[in-house]
Amino acid sequence: MNTPPTATGLYFDGRSARAHPVRLRLGERLEIVGEAVRLDWSLLDLRAAETAPPLARIGHADSPGSVEFEDAAFADALAARCPGLHRREREGGLPRLVLWSLAAGVSVLLTAIYGVPAAADLLAPLVPRTVEARLGAAVETQIVGLLGDPPLCEDPAATAVLDGLVARLSATMSLSPPQVSVRRHSLANALALPGARVIILSDLLGKAKSADEFAGILAHEFGHVSARDPVRSVIRAGGTSFLLSLVLGDLTGSTVLVAVGQAAIAAGYSRDAERAADAASVAAVDRAGGDGRALAAILERITRAEDEKPGGLTGFLRSHPYTAERAATIRATPGKTGEASLLSEADWQTLRAICGAGDGQDGKTK
Ligand SMILES: [Zn+2]
Repeated sequence: MNTPPTATGLYFDGRSARAHPVRLRLGERLEIVGEAVRLDWSLLDLRAAETAPPLARIGHADSPGSVEFEDAAFADALAARCPGLHRREREGGLPRLVLWSLAAGVSVLLTAIYGVPAAADLLAPLVPRTVEARLGAAVETQIVGLLGDPPLCEDPAATAVLDGLVARLSATMSLSPPQVSVRRHSLANALALPGARVIILSDLLGKAKSADEFAGILAHEFGHVSARDPVRSVIRAGGTSFLLSLVLGDLTGSTVLVAVGQAAIAAGYSRDAERAADAASVAAVDRAGGDGRALAAILERITRAEDEKPGGLTGFLRSHPYTAERAATIRATPGKTGEASLLSEADWQTLRAICGAGDGQDGKTK
């Protein structure tokens, strides 16, 4: 493989006139990284503005931000990789749909030739952010329905603590903060969905014995988000029919999606994906000032508790397998263990009560 082209440039957020110095890297997506800027744009979303060479200005179809650079080689590499780059937005929505349909059509072909997993890996980085956001919203609706519509927990003080924790963890992972929601449910589990959504089921807070244990699970899900595992998993689960539904535009109402939602949570991720998310989590919690190895204990505790529950939803939600092996690897990761904690005891207790104090989430299960 060739090394991805890079260039230096300036990022403008489209709201202020301030120029942010950034490094650009053209991989499967266009990565834009600066001091306060961390973006990765799907190549299908990029739009070039009319400028006098060597100056190039690249915008995003759904964002007011843009980057400028004066690197002819990088501009050529971009033009070669981005089919929609010089398309004018005012031409309307049709070309965009056609492009995306083409991509989906090609991927159906890839699926036929290489099989679903390989096609999913090829397609996942190409999914435009708007499609992924729509997909995430639709899958979340499906999953919440499958879980029996558990209510959202939104205690304001607890939500503030959670938001702070989410911001700290995602910052150490160079990730825009995912959208985290907590729902009252007797399962201890967490799920990452497309569109950087994470659902926490409240018994997880009951099972966590420390803020760092909970943070470990949260950061593990962020690891999946960062690796784009949820999109890949949904594409794999939906297979060709999912890709066809993208072509036909029947994304939200389709029966395909029910199957996708179900399969996506039941199948879980590969061993490698889990290992990578664990490693990302340990590093993130350590860097944020906690004990990344606390993740091992809560993983074991949850697996033990779920094993004791008879049948029901347990098997269906086995989204995080290989526990013993994972716990051993996490414990063996070098770093400090013990005293440090990400939250004060008071904040941790506030966060645990996000579904209301004394609702029995703690200690009800053996
Ligand atoms: Zn996982």
